[in-house]
Amino acid sequence: MAARLWSTVVIVRRATRLYVHVPFCRAKCAYCAFYSEVLRGPDRVALYLQALAAECARLAPAAGRLDSVFIGGGTPTLLGAVDLARLLGLIRQSFDVDVAAEFTVEANPDTLDAAVVEALAAGGVNRVSMGVQSFRTEVRQTLGRQGEALRAPAAVAALRAAGIRRLNADLMYHIPGQTVDQWTADLRQVLDLGITHLSAYALTLEEGTRLAAAAVPLPAEDVFEAMWQACDSVAATYGLKRYEVSNFACPGDECRHNLGIWYGDAYAGCGPAAASFDGVRRWTQPADLDRWLAGAPPDLDEIRPAARAAEILAFGLRTAAGWNLARFRQVTGMDPDQICPGVLDPLVALGLLQRSSDTIQPTPAGLLLNDAIAERIILLPEP
Ligand code: SF4
Repeated sequence: MAARLWSTVVIVRRATRLYVHVPFCRAKCAYCAFYSEVLRGPDRVALYLQALAAECARLAPAAGRLDSVFIGGGTPTLLGAVDLARLLGLIRQSFDVDVAAEFTVEANPDTLDAAVVEALAAGGVNRVSMGVQSFRTEVRQTLGRQGEALRAPAAVAALRAAGIRRLNADLMYHIPGQTVDQWTADLRQVLDLGITHLSAYALTLEEGTRLAAAAVPLPAEDVFEAMWQACDSVAATYGLKRYEVSNFACPGDECRHNLGIWYGDAYAGCGPAAASFDGVRRWTQPADLDRWLAGAPPDLDEIRPAARAAEILAFGLRTAAGWNLARFRQVTGMDPDQICPGVLDPLVALGLLQRSSDTIQPTPAGLLLNDAIAERIILLPEP
């Protein structure tokens, strides 16, 4: 009976979040599985911006008022001040961006020169996410990471002077050869910058990357756990708290865009490899600039409503706050125990989830072992 009901639940929503993928990088990092190509010259950028304008015009009528915009990649700031200003203007002309919207751009610290910072501020960007990864030369070499992390302090000062105060830095840990002491030093060095948001990602060896091909072993599991604990303890001394598996923030400075995605909001995606979601279907543009320029169709991911709701449940359980059950029902039209009967209580018994009458959330152990929670929830039997 329940399965028949599920198949009728369809909640299609207008996007309130926009992601724009800028597919250019200076060089390809050894660990990176995101789609990007090495920037070969202005012609590719001009073609990209022209096609992006057409795509924005196509998607904008179906989108609602945007509560957040996130320009990622790739390295968006590699475009330089002039093309970046064009891109920001294009988004504002095409979409209805709320005056209070969170507007994030990803940046490499050494691309944040005075002109680029000015273009960001003039374009209404109010949050910048910097890819630092590590300050240690030997760790950066393992990651195949070019650029100069030591430019981060100057970049932070320039952004603040321009009025952009919501700053994030990405760091990576659990890297071959990296010690807990090196990791702790990286955490302190980046938080000494006074940033109010930190993304700390454990390295995973993604298929197709140079690092995976090199088959260098990752540090042992106990090193991973020590590094995980160091994130919490060092971040706490700077007033930041883990609010998602890999994300820390001062209270009130959490990334609204990503929280929206984890809690099942509808989003539009522009650019190659960008995904869109309308509450039911997800579709992803080709992860290839030439195919995207040629208008190749997106990949459509259409799964039954209960499976989509399970996915949304698992995503929300990546956050420390987890789900308010009323909100989950509002987003999916379903109840967690109907979607995955017999799954949640055993996870509670294992100490990975905790429940109250109106919430379900991961325990600290559940955040650490979040993949295990997601696997149990998402691997539902077919009806
Ligand atoms: S990690 Fe960032 S800078 Fe490095 S290749 Fe990937 S998208 Fe580009």
